[in-house]
This record gives sequence, C-alpha cells and structure tokens, in this order.
Amino acid sequence: MPKRVPVTNQDLAWLRQNASTITVKDVSAYFNCCVDTAKRILHRNDIIHFDGAKYEKRRDHDLKMWNRPCMGCKSTESRPKNQYFCDVCRERNDMDNDHDGWV
Ligand SMILES: [Zn+2]
Repeated sequence: MPKRVPVTNQDLAWLRQNASTITVKDVSAYFNCCVDTAKRILHRNDIIHFDGAKYEKRRDHDLKMWNRPCMGCKSTESRPKNQYFCDVCRERNDMDNDHDGWV
C-alpha cells in the first residue's frame, strides 16, 4: 500500500484553484508522492475525475465537461473535462487500462 499523504485545506484550495492547469505529475511533485497516489487525492476530493473500476464511481452531476477536440479524431463531442480523447478513441486504444498514460 502506498503511504497516506496528509492533505490540508490549504492544499485543497491550491488544487481547486489550479485544477484546470495542473497535471497529475505536478500534483505528485507537490505532495512528493507517486502518480497513483496523486490521482487518488484528486479523485477523492472531487478535483479531477478518472475513469476506471480502480477508482470509485464518479459523481456525474458535478462532473465538468468540455468540448476540446479529441486528440485522436478531433471530435468535439462534449466529454468529461481533462479527458483528451473521445470514448470511441479511448476504446480503440484501450486507454482505460493505461492510467499512467494520462497526461
Ligand atoms: Zn476521438
């Protein structure tokens, strides 16, 4: 089990403020923890949501969406914020099984 990283209210405020620009790698550097732990912190605090059975079910009602063109097929269909590929491309690339490929 990875070590538990204490997250203060100040940390959460920083994360929320920068949620749209920071990457999981930034967060792992900030907390000096591994990428996987950083994802858990982001997910647990509803800052950034990740797909996959590994993480608890996301709460769709407060999920932020965006229309950024898919990095694969350029589809602008709305999808969860921070998801760079549309569902079709994700399925094709089997990206759900590659959490560390998330940028
Ligand atoms: Zn696509």
